[in-house]
Amino acid sequence: MTSDSATSLRQVRSFCRFCSALCGIVVTVDGDQVVEVRGDADHPLSRGYTCPKGRALGAWHHHPERLDVPSVGRGTAQRATDWDAALGDLAGRLQATANEYGPDAVGMYMATATSFDAAGGRMAFRLFQALGTKSRYSAVTIDTPCRPLVCDQLSGNAGLMPCIDEETAGLTILVGTNPVVSHGHTTSLPDPVNRLRALAAGPRELWVIDPRRTESARLATRHLAPRPGTDHAIFAFAIRSLLTDGGADLPYLERHATEADVHALRMAVEPFDLARATEETGLEADELTDLVAAIRRHRRLGAMTGTGTTMSAVANSTEWLVWALQIITGSYEQPGGLWFHPGFLRCFDRRNLRPSGPDLVRWPG
Ligand code: SF4
Repeated sequence: MTSDSATSLRQVRSFCRFCSALCGIVVTVDGDQVVEVRGDADHPLSRGYTCPKGRALGAWHHHPERLDVPSVGRGTAQRATDWDAALGDLAGRLQATANEYGPDAVGMYMATATSFDAAGGRMAFRLFQALGTKSRYSAVTIDTPCRPLVCDQLSGNAGLMPCIDEETAGLTILVGTNPVVSHGHTTSLPDPVNRLRALAAGPRELWVIDPRRTESARLATRHLAPRPGTDHAIFAFAIRSLLTDGGADLPYLERHATEADVHALRMAVEPFDLARATEETGLEADELTDLVAAIRRHRRLGAMTGTGTTMSAVANSTEWLVWALQIITGSYEQPGGLWFHPGFLRCFDRRNLRPSGPDLVRWPG
């Protein structure tokens, strides 16, 4: 924190809590008044970058409609009250709803802001545990339910989501995601344009699979524009090619997979030859074979799906195939692939995780 002795202005270092990119910011304050928010050039991840939302944090903080005191009622009947009255009103309504319709009638939506309110998030969980409701939702369960499902089926924990290893990445594949605008999700990308440029700087390659020529696609080494909802055919074809014609990391599979599982995977992708993949996706044959050649060239890859895929009708199958492709190329926890953050509280690295399904390669519904 720095201050200007000639004025009452102070500069305070913090970070933006609007999204998971967590950009570093320098906030100029005059007393309790936010005067300016700008990117922190010394922040090691965001390196001075902020988006318009982050720079508008001051206006958001001082917005005239901000709730600074508890209030009850709706519309013109809304009025300020004290905490006892507000919490009593809320408790009565929740109890009445649970009594009449059962605890699942009380739902909870934990949005991004909850992630940055450690005490509030924890207390919300305790409240809903006490109510006994199963109706819990979040940005992940609404936007990307295939992610925790496939993570759980293949790793044994729904929260074990891999991140692209930006430092060692050779081949990065973005599927239905546009981080120039969204700033990523499980792999967060503050300063996305410079980060994507770095991932595309030869000999590195950045491939974007998206029906639309997005802002991210314009920065890619190659852009594939399949028909919407056909991404699964691309990955099934790639797995089939690598297992049949070479490119899969067979020593890795011998160490980490059973013969039966690899056989079941071969059978699952067997129908997806080049003819079927081109027919389903509408891509040219050389676009698909070039992608497989790129995977062979780099041996490992890091792929990230986004809502273009995860909200599609084939989300579960596509996410599962992306995991399968990364497994057969030995891309997890290896340079040039993806890494798992064990979490400070969850400590995944010290747990004995097991895939939850009876059959590791069963095709998710
Ligand atoms: S990308 Fe924008 S909203 Fe997200 S953390 Fe950075 S400044 Fe905030």
